[in-house]
Amino acid sequence: MLNTKNTKLITLCLIGVFFNQHSFADIKLSGEIKQGALVIGKTANDNVVTFDGKVLPLSEYGDYVFGFSRDDDKTHQLMITQPNGEKELKTLTPLKRQYDIQRIEGIAKKIMNPNPKAVTRSKQDGAQVSTARQTLSTKTDFAKGFIAPITGIITGVYGSQRVFNGVPKRPHYGLDYAGKTGDPVKAPAAGTVVMFVSDMFYSGGTMIIDHGHGITSSFLHLSKSYVKTGDEVKKGQVVAAVGSSGRTTGPHLDWRINWFNMRLDPALALKAVAIK
Ligand SMILES: [Zn+2]
Repeated sequence: MLNTKNTKLITLCLIGVFFNQHSFADIKLSGEIKQGALVIGKTANDNVVTFDGKVLPLSEYGDYVFGFSRDDDKTHQLMITQPNGEKELKTLTPLKRQYDIQRIEGIAKKIMNPNPKAVTRSKQDGAQVSTARQTLSTKTDFAKGFIAPITGIITGVYGSQRVFNGVPKRPHYGLDYAGKTGDPVKAPAAGTVVMFVSDMFYSGGTMIIDHGHGITSSFLHLSKSYVKTGDEVKKGQVVAAVGSSGRTTGPHLDWRINWFNMRLDPALALKAVAIK
């Protein structure tokens, strides 16, 4: 006859079997496990996927997506639960990166403290952009991967930061491409245009495209938009033109990728490909 102690032991052994020895749900991922990375996943569409305990939306084809922030130094838990309750757990620790930090001393006070009007204006812009990035749609265009929006030389990278007179400024979250005013900008993935504003204070002509499940692309400093809010766009479709609007030193395209309000690295998003 089993006493209570033995029953407990058997239960523990069974849990061990479920978690460690069998791979029931087969976790398929594409993208790097690195700070700033976008990761695409695929599983059976009747499974439940959680990331650190939060349920990730799953498409009808079983596609899901998540990302790691610029300075993410945590270990995350990706858990897949099958309809019969069997679970598979994968722990993910993003690889640390070295970002380019530029220290500049002796900046004039006037530049250090922008005028109050500019501050108010940029706060309004920020709120509008943030709202657009909260879009949670059931689109699954992110799952087909991304293409570069233009073919210019890269002049600015994700994560770099300037420190003025010892005060760290906001890191640069985009991928900057050199270009001429009027050069065509293509949609990196299909999606819906969720915002276009022609004259934001810092970012000038600014467009946001929703690729689904909280993934959006932003384009900054545009001179022109060929589409309007609400339009559906195809991957590779010309949607805008390069410009130098807003606060910038010259014409270029600044492309950003967001997972809701988390900034991801477009260069790493390009490495996440569609999973068959
Ligand atoms: Zn930029």
